[in-house]
Amino acid sequence: MSKVYNFCAGPAMLPEPVMEQAKEELLDWQGHGCSVMELSHRSKAFVDVAQQAEADLRELLGIPDDYRVLFTHGGGRGQFSAVPMNLSRQGQRADYLVSGSWSAAALAEAEKYLTPNRVAEVQVVDGLKRVSDASSWDLDADAAYFHYCPNETVDGIAIDGIPDTGDVPIVADMSSTILSGPLDVSRFGLIYAGAQKNIGPSGLSVVIVNDALLGQARAQTPSIFDYQLQAEQGSMFNTPPTFAWYLAGLVFKWLKTQGGVAEMHRRNAQKAAMLYGCIDDSDFYINAIHPDYRSRMNVPFQLQEPALDKLFLQQAEQAGLTALAGHRSVGGMRASIYNAMPVAGVQALVAFMQDFEKRKG
Ligand SMILES: *Cc1c(COP(=O)(O)O)cnc(C)c1O
Repeated sequence: MSKVYNFCAGPAMLPEPVMEQAKEELLDWQGHGCSVMELSHRSKAFVDVAQQAEADLRELLGIPDDYRVLFTHGGGRGQFSAVPMNLSRQGQRADYLVSGSWSAAALAEAEKYLTPNRVAEVQVVDGLKRVSDASSWDLDADAAYFHYCPNETVDGIAIDGIPDTGDVPIVADMSSTILSGPLDVSRFGLIYAGAQKNIGPSGLSVVIVNDALLGQARAQTPSIFDYQLQAEQGSMFNTPPTFAWYLAGLVFKWLKTQGGVAEMHRRNAQKAAMLYGCIDDSDFYINAIHPDYRSRMNVPFQLQEPALDKLFLQQAEQAGLTALAGHRSVGGMRASIYNAMPVAGVQALVAFMQDFEKRKG
């Protein structure tokens, strides 16, 4: 099969030069006569890979010195549990802003450990979905932390500004938005992300945590999820997902050669503007998210005639545009356009959509 533009939400496409390099050195990594995935995680060679990846990520995001970076297991959902176990005591409350299905799932998991306070909901105003205005949020000054998801991968809803929560530390699920643009890490207590959207392959999650939040884990916290322990052990308390960590490191190097997160922000804005422009210019495609809350990473859209969904997906696939089906919970279409999606991929999608609309199938 020839190369396609893969719009999958996750695991998502990776930059081609990264895949080429990984292929090139798969069997003989830097003259070691074996693969990087066959090295001990405690060998100097791998520890160098691991530390370089962390240094590059720190540089890309300007992560301050009083933050630890953990390369850990368990995906995004693992952190839904790790966060309350590490940052709250039994019986404490925490604020959860619910702006879509992932933040709702995070709240549901947190209920096992604490009493979550549902801060806000998604509203539909004049037919458009939006997050209620921050002035109406029901914030708790005694909350252990405030949790939110700046980019809802399934719903295509994004919150751009960083909320003002006073002294309550902010925890952000950035699984589908980390590295898509500049970020003031110092505003957050903790940031986490499953790797498989905008960092690398699945199996790895990255946690960026302020030192002040370490050392408070509940006694029954599994050791592999104990932030303090993992920080002390350089994320090597047990065997980390070494190949995913290595590949993430290649992605960080690639990002640096491309101009870093500022350039990613520029390209991502350009790609999103093209796609939303195509949708808004037509009476055939619909995106019912308020323009202020539209995601630049995941663009859900519906056809005015849902009976044509199947044909749309079939013909898109024939045109080399794959994985455009919306999440099973919402249906319709979704184009995920993370850092690795080139501008040309979105151009090809827009051209296909305009052509499909003209032909109506
Ligand atoms: C994909 C995703 C998750 C879940 O990640 P897993 O690694 O499958 O657990 C959580 N949050 C967000 C925002 C996501 O996009």
